[in-house]
Amino acid sequence: MNRSVLELRAGGLPLAHGGADGEWHYRHATRLDGPTVLDHQVLADFLAYETAHGRHVDVVADPALSGWDTWPAPKVRPHPGEFATQCCTHVYADGCAAGLVCHGAPAAAAARILADGMLRPATAVTGRTARDLAAASTWGDPADYFEHVMLANGRCTAPEAVACSRALGRDLTPADLRPGYPPAVRFYFGWPALAARPDARFDGVHPVKIHGDLRLGDALVAVVVHASQHHLITASAERFRERLAVVDADRPGPREWAVAAAAAAERLAARAAAGTQQDPGSPALGARPPEPP
Ligand SMILES: [Zn+2]
Repeated sequence: MNRSVLELRAGGLPLAHGGADGEWHYRHATRLDGPTVLDHQVLADFLAYETAHGRHVDVVADPALSGWDTWPAPKVRPHPGEFATQCCTHVYADGCAAGLVCHGAPAAAAARILADGMLRPATAVTGRTARDLAAASTWGDPADYFEHVMLANGRCTAPEAVACSRALGRDLTPADLRPGYPPAVRFYFGWPALAARPDARFDGVHPVKIHGDLRLGDALVAVVVHASQHHLITASAERFRERLAVVDADRPGPREWAVAAAAAAERLAARAAAGTQQDPGSPALGARPPEPP
């Protein structure tokens, strides 16, 4: 398919869906009080990514956003965590952005990811072709999407649905998940570090995605597992134990889990940063210990 449609809507929620002829339709929702620099970036990214993949984009905008063709592409890419957005779900007033971005996986898959030391795109995980995976998707995403490791905002509930979909073999939305569902293992990364990589891609849909494998190595900031599933990843998480957070929450829904996991990841990140600064063997950083809070 060599065509895609970007719907720009004031208010409401983003929506990914296939068109009648199999074309890629993505709805991007701005805040009701008007587009931000991040919306300008999303438009520029969507157009550039789709064009680079050989798809012609038709933009269909709400009357309130009819000036989209005059939106300037930002000179400096904005940090997606700094803006209130319309979330992929309707559970947050300000959207799901956090200081970190994340990827979710079912516990069994997370054990393999930790053992391999890398996240791999769906094509590599399944051994199926990108075209085959696209044909089986409910959301209409183009085939090239499946050649990437996709990242979501840190408090996003979408990774919960994606992980559960993988475990069940059918596509779900966060609204399909009830307390008692198996919470995803969430892998957290710093957005600036990923965004600066040569294999980073910006599709106007995800805050960033990585073309090909994403080695955990130094990139992983935290991996967060629900206490009920800790035993499933204990052995493979050993080499990442300083970056592992085990969080107990009583039968969380997707929102409670996403919030708790993001908070745990940010605590780990803050502790790691403080540890670096206090390290007396690091003269460049250790001139003076931080003030107590
Ligand atoms: Zn979200």
